[in-house]
Amino acid sequence: MEQFDVKRVYTNEDYEPYAIERDRQVSELLSSKGVDLRSYKDQVIFAKEEVVKDDGNPYLVYTPYSKRWLSQLEEKDLEDHGSGLDHDNWHQGKKEIHSLADLGFEESEIKFPDHNLSKGTLDTYSDERDIPSKDSTSRLGIHLRFGTISIRKLARRARKHSETFLKELIWREFFMSILYHFPHVVEANFNSKYDSLKWRNNEDDFKRWKEGKTGFPLVDAGMRELNETGFMHNRVRMLVASFLTKHLLIDWKWGEAYFAQKLLDYELASNNGNWQWAAGTGVDAQPYFRVFNPHSQLKKFDPQEIYVKKWVPEYNSSEYPEPMVDHKDARQRAISTYKEALS
Ligand SMILES: Cc1cc2nc3c(=O)[nH]c(=O)nc-3n(C[C@H](O)[C@H](O)[C@H](O)COP(=O)(O)OP(=O)(O)OC[C@H]3O[C@@H](n4cnc5c(N)ncnc54)[C@H](O)[C@@H]3O)c2cc1C
Repeated sequence: MEQFDVKRVYTNEDYEPYAIERDRQVSELLSSKGVDLRSYKDQVIFAKEEVVKDDGNPYLVYTPYSKRWLSQLEEKDLEDHGSGLDHDNWHQGKKEIHSLADLGFEESEIKFPDHNLSKGTLDTYSDERDIPSKDSTSRLGIHLRFGTISIRKLARRARKHSETFLKELIWREFFMSILYHFPHVVEANFNSKYDSLKWRNNEDDFKRWKEGKTGFPLVDAGMRELNETGFMHNRVRMLVASFLTKHLLIDWKWGEAYFAQKLLDYELASNNGNWQWAAGTGVDAQPYFRVFNPHSQLKKFDPQEIYVKKWVPEYNSSEYPEPMVDHKDARQRAISTYKEALS
């Protein structure tokens, strides 16, 4: 404002607690100088109070939320909203735009997926999305997170070609809605009845999980995929999160923080929501007594061990560690610990 004659500031809404507070402060500052701030919905189809129950309360369960979301969807919600600006000259008046270095960033070597979503991916999505050895999911998480793809464009294509895919996009909005309405989830269990849960929080166990050296091949493959690429397949994310919170009884916040550090598609609402789902402490969560069996998950989702062998080359050799816990014992320990917290 000191350098330029600013009349109006345009931005898009962000629903994370930190961002809401930041934008409030910016808005206050601008209005104290007589500058108008205009913010728009952009990163979701429905925001804030747009999908709520008849009584105005937010949904706490995904299925009714998604039904409501779908039932109120109209063509206009999926229309493009061009800015009307000449894209080559949007920064008129300023000769150079900031370089990465000006902004304090360094150019990265990391390769990230293209933002084209092929019809082939959508056609096979429903049948193949749970098989981690296949490259059959969209890999668009990173683009959605950084706003380099339009959610409206994506939802239009999903609606035409794959309802299953559209429902995944609705999960994303469901968790954003939860974060918006219940910002306490950032720091705490959504469901406070689990607050007295006695996590073991063993540092050595946590290290083995992070390094992919638990002796459970599908868990280890997932963690190594994450460490090497910044991505992990959703099916395996669910398993490693369940393993950490239930088999090892380590606080979901530790796992959440590790994912936040490593995932290229890291996004607070989805990460927090899914971690709390896996730990059983969240909305519409996996019940505490449902503990994924890492052996049967391997048989079901990677029967030929293609994914496991890709990420854990020493699997089946003497170098590969023995399982760090006995599945049955760890399952029983988890169930008793959760039960105790609830009693
Ligand atoms: C413990 C755990 C942590 C997770 N952390 C994140 C995270 O930080 N950021 C993130 O975007 N997703 C997260 N997810 C959800 C999901 O794993 C990823 O969105 C998905 O794997 C990204 O790959 P993709 O783009 O190929 O997904 P696709 O299967 O192609 O799905 C398309 C899009 O739908 C959305 N989506 C799909 N599944 C979910 C879901 N379960 N919850 C919310 N949105 C979903 C994502 O925006 C995704 O990009 C997490 C899941 C778990 C179990």
